Amino acid sequence: MSATPVTLQPRPLDPSVDHEIQAIVAGDLTTETCNTDLAAGPWTFDTRPGYGPGSSMGDVIPTGAPRQGQLPAEYREAAEEELAARIVAAKATLGDRVVVLGHFYQREEVVTHADYVGDSFQLANAALEHPEAEAIVFCGVHFMAETADLLSRPEQAVILPNLAAGCSMADMADIDQVEECWEQLAEVYGDMDIPDAEGLLPVIPVTYMNSSAAIKGFVGRHGGIVCTSSNARTVLEWAFARGRRVLFFPDQHLGRNTAKAMGVPLERMPMWNPRKPLGGSTEAELHDARVILWHGFCSVHRRFTVGQIAQARAEHPGVRVIVHPECPMDVVDAADEAGSTDYIRKAIAAATEPTTFAIGTEINLVQRLAAQFPEHRIFCLDPVVCPCSTMYRIHPGYLAWVLEGLVAGEVRNRIQVTADVAEPARVALERMLAAKP
Ligand code: SF4
Repeated sequence: MSATPVTLQPRPLDPSVDHEIQAIVAGDLTTETCNTDLAAGPWTFDTRPGYGPGSSMGDVIPTGAPRQGQLPAEYREAAEEELAARIVAAKATLGDRVVVLGHFYQREEVVTHADYVGDSFQLANAALEHPEAEAIVFCGVHFMAETADLLSRPEQAVILPNLAAGCSMADMADIDQVEECWEQLAEVYGDMDIPDAEGLLPVIPVTYMNSSAAIKGFVGRHGGIVCTSSNARTVLEWAFARGRRVLFFPDQHLGRNTAKAMGVPLERMPMWNPRKPLGGSTEAELHDARVILWHGFCSVHRRFTVGQIAQARAEHPGVRVIVHPECPMDVVDAADEAGSTDYIRKAIAAATEPTTFAIGTEINLVQRLAAQFPEHRIFCLDPVVCPCSTMYRIHPGYLAWVLEGLVAGEVRNRIQVTADVAEPARVALERMLAAKP
């Protein structure tokens, strides 16, 4: 599993979601967007109390989340072409001193400047290949920059171009709520550090990569492990070899879809709602549990429905439907395949015959794949243009601002995980790397 070094490829279709949203707002397209505010620069809503328009507009930024200050006017007012030229010039000046990483879900206008494109873990590993770089500019969301900081050398500065680019799913597992959950579980199961007669601990905590460093640190301190959407099954097998049950956070859907595929019955997967005593379950249900699912979800992948799949099949006979495992269980069950962003990309690349693909993941990736593979017909299952609103906050204006800051000798928006959190978080990540099938 590695991030893709960028090579120039023909782009016969315009992969830009921003161009499409601008055209919708101008009335030149009849397709819909989930919020026309997305046509404006993110600086118009960076400071609003919430995640802003788009797929996660209903979520609220947690107290203490980093906030982005006002982007200077020269970046807010610059045209797309000017920003692109300034980014190219700054990167040329910086040379090997900087590496720019672009997540699959980033806007095309940002990804085009990335040295590597991939998922969060692939990108963190790509950064390791550049120990000479003084700065790693992570075009993604906050937890990804934290993970890159955990894996990079201490002298390297990891930069998040817009501090308002959080992840609503990651923020659904708050460290205080998780600590409280652990205490309540200890009242049910007894001492969490003492194995039973078969050598199994009562609970092994497992966190998805899409979680804060604080949660990864919690997991590391309690004998647990991190997983990605590519290796969730391997990681759950690792955990079941060490514990009676798993506490899985923050994404209930990845946990449920993975455990179900492994044969765990749904009735043995209670949900933990942090606002309810014992998470909303009885002691008996918790004793019987194999996987306790945290009440979290991705606002983007929650938009996909069984009805969209039925419509795709009706309109495109023979369509191949591939969805991300962050989608709800009924959607995964109705699809032909489910897999990580890397799986989706490889599945399309491996198709030898012209194929129609309906994809259930973030639209920036889907449109880029459609442009990169014109021999196939590739479209997003959701007919509404609704990018991840927090990923979308990395506008080229912010990328230009942090890169020109580096040229001027100023490190802007550095993300640093404190040593007390970083040490156990690295332990949890190292366990994942060692957990080979
Ligand atoms: S797509 Fe979902 S999980 Fe990914 S950053 Fe956006 S809200 Fe978070």
